[in-house]
Parts: sequence; C-alpha cells; structure tokens
Amino acid sequence: MSRKGEHELIVACREAGRQLAATFQPVVPFLLQAGVSMAAYTGGLAAAQAAGMALRVSCATPIAGPIGGLLGVGLASAASGQASIKCRQYLQDKQNPLLQPWKGVRAEDLLVDAVLGIAMFKVMGGRFRSVMPSDLSKVGAIARESLPATHAEYATDASRVELARYFRRDGCHHCGTRRGKVIGDHMPPNKYVKQYIATAKRSLLSNPYMRQMASALNIQTGTPRQRYYPQCTSCMQKQSSAIRNDKKVLVFHQVLHHGGRSQSWHYAGALLGMRHYSSTSSSGSSSAKDSNGRRR
Ligand SMILES: [Zn+2]
Repeated sequence: MSRKGEHELIVACREAGRQLAATFQPVVPFLLQAGVSMAAYTGGLAAAQAAGMALRVSCATPIAGPIGGLLGVGLASAASGQASIKCRQYLQDKQNPLLQPWKGVRAEDLLVDAVLGIAMFKVMGGRFRSVMPSDLSKVGAIARESLPATHAEYATDASRVELARYFRRDGCHHCGTRRGKVIGDHMPPNKYVKQYIATAKRSLLSNPYMRQMASALNIQTGTPRQRYYPQCTSCMQKQSSAIRNDKKVLVFHQVLHHGGRSQSWHYAGALLGMRHYSSTSSSGSSSAKDSNGRRR
C-alpha cells in the first residue's frame, strides 16, 4: 500500500472511531444512572432481608411477613431513586454528592419513588412475602411449584424427576440455589404432621360426632396433606437439626432470583431510577430545576 493510501486509511479509522464515540457518548450517562439505580435497589432489598432476619420475621410469618416485604420494596425503591438523583447531580456538577448526602433530598421524591416502586413490583409479578428470609420449617420464599407427597418417607422415582426439573428451573425453595443434589422436602415436615395426629387423637376430634360437626364447618380434621418442594442438601441438613431441636431457623435467599414465572420485577428498580434521568445536553431538566429552586 502506498504512503498516501496508508494515510487515508488512518484518517478513515480515526473518523470512524470519532463517530462511534459520538454515537455512544449519550448512552453512557444513561447506562451509568440505570446501573447505579439497580445496585441501590438490590442493596435495599438485601437490607430488608437482613432486617427481617434480625427481627425474626420470615416469609411465612403471618401479616408481618408480607408487610415487611412491602416496606422493604418501598425502601429499596426510595434508595434507587435517590441513587439515580445523586448520579445525575454528579454527571452535571462533577462534584461528589456523597460529601453532603442529605443535600437536596426531598420527602416527596422518597414517597413517590416508594409508592411507584411498590406498585411496579406488584404489577411486574413480584411477591411481597418473598422479600423476607425463609423459615426452614415452613414453605420457603423461593417456592413456586410442588408435588403431592403420597409416601411418608421418600419421593418416588417419578416425583424425583419432576422435582429435579423444578430445582433446575426455580432452585431450592428456601435459599434459591441450583447447585448440588435435589431433595424432596416434605411440607409440613413429618414431625409436625405426627404431632398433629397425636394431638387430634387426644382432642375432641377423636369423637366421631365432633368430627362430623367440624367437617360440616369446613374445619380440617384429617391428616394435613403434605407436598414435596425442591430443596438443596445444605438447607436439608440445617432443617433437620432445627426441627429436631424445635428451633426457628431462618436462612437468606438470593435477592434477585431468576426463576418461576416472572422475573421482570428485578428491573423495577432500574426503571424507577430512570424517572430521574435527564440527558446532560439538557442539563437543567424540569425536576432538576425544581429541586434547585427549592434549595436556593
Ligand atoms: Zn437451599
């Protein structure tokens, strides 16, 4: 290639590089803000699960479980919104917004983000009870599908094949892992079913007339029906010691778990954060002007 040809090639490459950079430049702040929002949302959900663990509230705790999940989603959404706002401020002023973390934080932003986040989480298929940690003696936070347990001790071969499929798709119903061997976990656990039968025999339900009356009132009198849920070996080991010692043991589960029917709720945080996006070319967006206006 002649010297002139080489020079032309270099010029053409430089020009192509410049055009490529110009094309992607507007996308960078957008991706950065979405990434920061997503990280804050995930962090908020993890913090909510840790709070549930500290307060001994699990996904199976009546009332407090779903309410804890709802508050957790609200908190994570508000955090996502604030992270997005801070990121935007940084991109506009190039000053570290974390030096004055409370500057410009508005109660209405927190509230609107929390309410919108809760609504989006629900619409996008999230379950509030699944935010809290799993209780090993109850059906776990990740649980989706289960099988009727016909044999008291072990799953049949056909059930095992089906459980392995659930395990690969949804993970362990307590912690969400898909690693290792699958166990068919009886829910409710065998020990509790045996205890129930022993109590029922001693109670008024041993009387046939009382049993008839109870069944007329739709009160369950028979043995509770057990189901198999896919479980990992680590949760199984922790569970057997917990049940043997009658202890309530909670375990953490994966925060953003890919499984089941819908996982679009994972992106609720990023979508919510983008509510505060404004391209740097129009650096005085309406919401930025509002917040600046009030601060001054
Ligand atoms: Zn597990």
